[in-house]
Amino acid sequence: MKIAVIGTGYVGLCTGAIFADLGNEVIGVDIDREKVARLAAGDCPIYEPGLEEILTRNRDAGRLAFTTDYSEAVPNADCVFICVNTPAGPDGGADMRYVRTAALRVGQTLAWGRRTIIVNKSTMPIGSGDLVQALVHEQCTDRADFAVVSNPEFLREGSAVHDMLHPDRIVLGATDRDAAEAVADLYRPFNAPLLITDLRTAEMIKYASNAFLATRISFINEVAHICEALGADVRQVATGMGMDTRIGPHFLNAGIGFGGSCFPKDVRALEFMAREADLHPQLLRAVLDINRDSRRSLVRKLQRLIGPLDGTTVAIWGLAFKPDTDDLREAPALEIVRDLLSRGASVRVYDPVAMDAARSQQLDVAFCTDPYDAATGADAVVLVTEWNEFKGLDLARVRDQMRRPVLLDGRNLYDPADVVPLGFTYRGVGLPSKYALAHSPRTVVEEAITR
Ligand code: NAD
Repeated sequence: MKIAVIGTGYVGLCTGAIFADLGNEVIGVDIDREKVARLAAGDCPIYEPGLEEILTRNRDAGRLAFTTDYSEAVPNADCVFICVNTPAGPDGGADMRYVRTAALRVGQTLAWGRRTIIVNKSTMPIGSGDLVQALVHEQCTDRADFAVVSNPEFLREGSAVHDMLHPDRIVLGATDRDAAEAVADLYRPFNAPLLITDLRTAEMIKYASNAFLATRISFINEVAHICEALGADVRQVATGMGMDTRIGPHFLNAGIGFGGSCFPKDVRALEFMAREADLHPQLLRAVLDINRDSRRSLVRKLQRLIGPLDGTTVAIWGLAFKPDTDDLREAPALEIVRDLLSRGASVRVYDPVAMDAARSQQLDVAFCTDPYDAATGADAVVLVTEWNEFKGLDLARVRDQMRRPVLLDGRNLYDPADVVPLGFTYRGVGLPSKYALAHSPRTVVEEAITR
């Protein structure tokens, strides 16, 4: 197939690269001239494991190109994937201006005399399939033959290439069954379960999925706070819960909450849509409230550990909203850093890949070369993103660099049984402090399994 991909961000680039790798001819269109110039020059503008190699391979094979000009891509395309950003608007609803512009430009450049399928891959509010249909139609009236299909994307940043190659399911929403089947053909090589629905149902599946995952995270974080107060260990609670096949083990890691370009904005957008429909989405509101509190409670915990923050030095390990990405959108670290700065702390930051992105955030912090450098002279280290690099550190060396050996672990990456004997004052999330010092939960779990 000939494919045009509108928007070459995390979703558009991965979609374009993978479809080109399957032998399709792909052109990516973006309004960001600098991004297109970098892509055309062979540079990958985002950090996503495995992506650069696929981009290079397919660009060299002549199956993948980039442009800023819709008329170079849309008229020849069998399928046009809309992958532009849909950020949160001021009232919480999705800001649809990029989708609107994309739909209008697609409508203006559609070829006559050939059928084109327009695929909404961006996460768009319920009813957007009809909106895109109307906007395109408005531009080309009855001259062009097109259909709109909703095809929500479920990839996770950091494992986007893997997720696109091994999807759990392909969801397609359409009023035109043939159009849905044609898009399904594109995905056939992945051998994934396929669900074809109407447009609105497909759009809702995406929001409901993200809201559910976010709910699990807020749920376990609330449980973590209760565990901490009542002397239970949330890690074992989550393990025990996850052994129940009705519950499963995923998305039950207590920490400092979700961030990124999807969960926060998508939960807000669903809450907004429910509100607009005169409903009272109290669970979604609670999910967002708990998430907000998770970051604040981390800073409060730090204050309890080292006293007033004014004049202290705090090291932040990890800035990206999760490991294996350089994405800082709604990253908990940024909120925490701003909170610390506003309380008079000096902040030293380190992230394995998001340092360049962080430099553009106007933060008055010291950008450090590695985790040891960040810890130098610090009154506390706060681990925010659980990068693999942080697992294998020489913590005795870290301790020796610090002014006070305080380790606040926002992701429960370390086992207190390993850290406390080194002389650290250690706090995780949802761990009863006395118990955590005395026992290794890992050992307890292992014992339980062995028995
Ligand atoms: P992104 O911000 O990384 O990329 C969007 C790209 O679209 C940018 O390069 C921007 O310049 C371009 N763009 C904006 N308006 C345009 C226009 N009119 N014409 C051409 N290009 C235009 O966004 P993303 O993270 O790739 O997300 C895209 C969509 O996919 C969003 O709706 C998001 O919610 C959804 N989604 C994202 C993820 C994820 O993990 N990032 C996962 C699933 C779904």
